[in-house]
Amino acid sequence: MPYDRFLRGIDHFLRRNAEPRTTTLIQQQPATYWPCMLIWWQDKKTRDWKYFVLHPGAALSLSPSAVFLPLAKNNRCGLLAEDDKVMVNGVRALPFRILVDRDQISVGDERLYFSVETPIEPAVFPQQDKKVFCGRCKGELTTGERVVVCSCGTAHHDTDKLPCWKKFARCSNPQCKRPVAGFAWQPAQGS
Ligand SMILES: [Zn+2]
Ligand SMILES: [Zn+2]
Repeated sequence: MPYDRFLRGIDHFLRRNAEPRTTTLIQQQPATYWPCMLIWWQDKKTRDWKYFVLHPGAALSLSPSAVFLPLAKNNRCGLLAEDDKVMVNGVRALPFRILVDRDQISVGDERLYFSVETPIEPAVFPQQDKKVFCGRCKGELTTGERVVVCSCGTAHHDTDKLPCWKKFARCSNPQCKRPVAGFAWQPAQGS
């Protein structure tokens, strides 16, 4: 089977199986349910690390030899390697690898990192089938309110009256403790 057709087939499969973001967003599912994956890459001129978010179900090809296949559940992402230039943590990835948090991926002299975080962005709380409570104040979240959902899936108020997210240094989930600004982890500057 030609490689392109093979990839299109996988992409189609992933899209069909991807869950719409709004239905899984704020239902206080187990921590691993909320899809949050990103790739860190280094700007060659400034040496700054930048990121882009991987969207479950959307295959992403960074070079002809490496394709990321973010899955719809459990923060899992496949890496399809077409040649032996693609390495994960210094080991050849050929032909396929499931990535885990903080894996280093190199393609030739390009270096990337996979991480299971997302940038924190306030959102409008959508209509829900069941009651959802703020991780901090334990008050019920209501449709249309401004909220922040941490990458662990815990929702928090983010209004002037109830600054439940911003008021503290870290996420309210004791298993998570993500800082309310920035990331829990990113590649070291200048590395
Ligand atoms: Zn609250
Ligand atoms: Zn959290």
